This record gives sequence, C-alpha cells and structure tokens, in this order.
Amino acid sequence: MRFVLLLCCFLIFSTTAFAAVEITMRGQQAAVIEDVYRQQGVSYVALEDILKIVNLTGHWDSVAHTYRIRTNRGWAVLTPASGYLRIGDSFYPIQDKPVFIDGRLRVSESFIQSQLAQLAGRPVFFRHLEPQQPVATETQRDGLEALFDRLLRRAESSRGPVIRAIAIDPGHGGLDTGVIAPDGYNEKLLTFEVADRLARLLRMRLGVPVYVSRSGDYDISLDQRLESALREDVDLWILLHAQTSFSPEVRGIDLLVRDEDEPLNPSLGSMVLAQHLSDAMKKSELEVRGVYSSSLLSLGRGILPTVQLEIGYLSNPDELRQLRQENYQNRLAQSVFDGIQNYITLLRETRQ
Ligand SMILES: [Zn+2]
Repeated sequence: MRFVLLLCCFLIFSTTAFAAVEITMRGQQAAVIEDVYRQQGVSYVALEDILKIVNLTGHWDSVAHTYRIRTNRGWAVLTPASGYLRIGDSFYPIQDKPVFIDGRLRVSESFIQSQLAQLAGRPVFFRHLEPQQPVATETQRDGLEALFDRLLRRAESSRGPVIRAIAIDPGHGGLDTGVIAPDGYNEKLLTFEVADRLARLLRMRLGVPVYVSRSGDYDISLDQRLESALREDVDLWILLHAQTSFSPEVRGIDLLVRDEDEPLNPSLGSMVLAQHLSDAMKKSELEVRGVYSSSLLSLGRGILPTVQLEIGYLSNPDELRQLRQENYQNRLAQSVFDGIQNYITLLRETRQ
C-alpha cells in the first residue's frame, strides 16, 4: 500500500478538484460526494464512496493488487490503471481507467453510469454541483497593500493560476513530540490532524497540489521539512505548531511571520497572508492573540509567503479540550482555508 500511496502523490499533480457531485439511484435518496477530483475533463470519485451509495460491497486485495466488488454474478475485479473490468473469465472494457488519487482508488463518472449501474442492477444518475466560488473580501487598500500590489504586478504575469501549489508543514513528528499536554496529548499529533484536514480542503476546493512535509507520525530532518516548501511551484507555505505556557490561563492563536528587518522586506507577502488568515479566524470566532514578526522563523525562501500558526495552548485545559475535538479542528482548518482563499482573491484582483 505504501507504494500505492507514493504513486498517488505523483498522480495528483495533474489533477484538479471539483466541489461535489450528486449521485442518485432510482428509488433512493440523492447522495452528495464532496471528495471528487477532475482529471483531463473527467470526474473521479472514490470507489468506496460510490459502492456505499449503490448498495454494493467490496475490498482491496493487497496481494493481487486489485479491488474486488461482490456482485450477484460473482466477484467483479478492478485493477488500477487497467482498461478492463473482469467478472469470472470475462473482460469488459472500461472507458476511463481507475486511478489512485490522494490515497484512494477512484473511478470515473462513465464507469459509474455504465459498468457500476449494471452491477448494481439499477440506473445511476450523476450530476456535478456548482463549484464553490471564492468569496471576495472587502479589503482596505492601505499603504502596505498598495506596495504589495506593485510588487506583484512587477513579479507576475497575468496568465496561469495565482497560486500553483501550497506546502504545509505539520510541526514535529516521531520521537520529537513537540509540547505535551498534562494528559499526554501532544503537538505532533495535533499539527498532523489539522494539517490533514487543511490539505484535504485545499485539494478539494482549490484544486491545487498540496505538499505536506510528513504523511504520518515519524521524524523528519530539517531538509525533508524544507523539501516540500522549496518545490518550484509552491507559492505559499503554512507551518503548524502549538504552544504551552506556565500559566494555565493563557490561550489563543498566534500568527508568526519572518522578521521584517531582512533585506528587501521579503515578509511583505507573508504579512498580508497572515492578516487574511487572522481575519478569517476571527470571523469564525476563534481566539486570535495577534500577528507577530519573529526572528525564530528563519525557514524557507525569502520571498515565499510563509506563516507559522501557533494554533493554541496545550497548557490551557479549555483550549486543550477544544483542540482535541474534531469539530474544532475542522473549524480551524476551514478558517485557514477561508483566509487563503481571500488572499488568493486579493492576488487575483491585483492582476487585473
Ligand atoms: Zn512546535
């Protein structure tokens, strides 16, 4: 499976994401799938998601490297990247080969409407829901942003995506736990969970590649951490951390950007990004302490907009309880996503 996961990382580069599709089966309520990718004009959904909707079951055979679907005609066997579906000794051609994207075996809309509908014994209807439109922010054009605009105009052409790819670094990992809460919960777990939620949102809704520095709980070197951020197409870098304090009262989110004393003031883009993230977090009623420039944040390329988020204090019992909750982690990830989206809207406006 490890190889497969690696393979997916490569496949995802040529992929963009759609907001959602609606699947309807005769005699059944419509279901919405949000984890949808679009590749060369074809929508792909995870086989496991669609099987549930059409009332079929199946499993991944890790020895044969195939996916087996139980049908009343026997096992239907699907092989990744193969153009055929096998049932017993018969082979049936598939228009779009099943592919692994983002860790899941996915099938195309044509496969769902033809082969899968036949296996399920009922027609399946497939409909794209409108992709979510970016929400424009009303940003005051102060001096900082005016200067930023000029820099952007000089640096960028008006073609191509505003943000080509995003890198996320969940702090710590493996033996390096980061800060630890009194109950044993720790920073490396928290940053990984939030990074994972944020990466999924960005991939699905923005349709850009997202490189996460680690894909599990293991040690990585500083070089490995930098590897994702140093990729040529990365235009934005988010680092995730958490803090502790001697005082159990202290709580809230700090946003750190590189020191502004550096030559050519490279943190300008970072400061504007941080301000957008902070605004979006406040809007979703998260407690933001402030945006600070820090000499500690020396990682990365000078001109790459980079913000380190200290997402809370594990030493504050109330905040710790929230940080461990799935809902709160989703709210955090969503607000960071909103902030990035608003920042992209600003960049797009400056290009026009
Ligand atoms: Zn940390």
